[in-house]
Amino acid sequence: MKKKNIIANWKLNGNKHSIISFLSQLNRHLTVKESNILDISIAFPIVYLDMAHQIISDFDFKISLCAQNVNYNTVGAFTGEISVYMLKDIGVKHVIIGHSETRKNHKETEKNILKKFIEIKKSNLIPILCIGETLKQKESGKTELIIKKQLSTILNSLGNESFDNTIIAYEPIWSIGTGKNASTSEIKKINNFIRNHITSFNESNIIDFLIFYGGSVNEKNVEYLSKKKYIDGLLIGSSSLNSDEFINIIKIITNN
Ligand code: PEP
Repeated sequence: MKKKNIIANWKLNGNKHSIISFLSQLNRHLTVKESNILDISIAFPIVYLDMAHQIISDFDFKISLCAQNVNYNTVGAFTGEISVYMLKDIGVKHVIIGHSETRKNHKETEKNILKKFIEIKKSNLIPILCIGETLKQKESGKTELIIKKQLSTILNSLGNESFDNTIIAYEPIWSIGTGKNASTSEIKKINNFIRNHITSFNESNIIDFLIFYGGSVNEKNVEYLSKKKYIDGLLIGSSSLNSDEFINIIKIITNN
């Protein structure tokens, strides 16, 4: 059976105390049984990832760590920035890029996202490339066009083989933090579109990539979302912050 996946995105939340207590709750309630079925990765704020790495290395079950962003420069005079090598050094496995909040707050261009993608791949970390449309774009029937645009800079520069061992998170912007989910038929349609668009770019390349869904996933909707074959994993924001809810989500997925 294919392993299921979840990534928790903590955004700008938490502190030393709350993260230690969150992880100790996970340690109390989770076992190897869950981590054999489900790959769990948590994107705490960067400043706490090293501490989290030390804590989880004593756990019997496996959790990975994820960074919420990275700089594409790898060394030098770039005040305030973090490189892929620094992330690797502290045991990070995944790196989120192109999250709609980062795109908006940092006025990120597709070119910047491409540069990050290149450095993440070079350092053998796994990019989680977030893509998705605004409500206005959805209502004007532009979802597929936007998705194509968000994939095209990487596809045109690096080819579709660059997507091997990569995660794409389809996160409709209107669904993030709003309590509104895309319907399963919408997710199926878009995930199939993403898969076909990438694989058909060069059909002779055999590539293995995952497509996640993100947007207001919680303990009430996780059961039916996690059962869908066309959703390889879930990216979870606010519902990952509370240990009881997050543990419940994990139990629901692994008991499915
Ligand atoms: C996210 O920000 O990636 C996300 C999915 O957030 P939420 O679950 O809170 O909608």
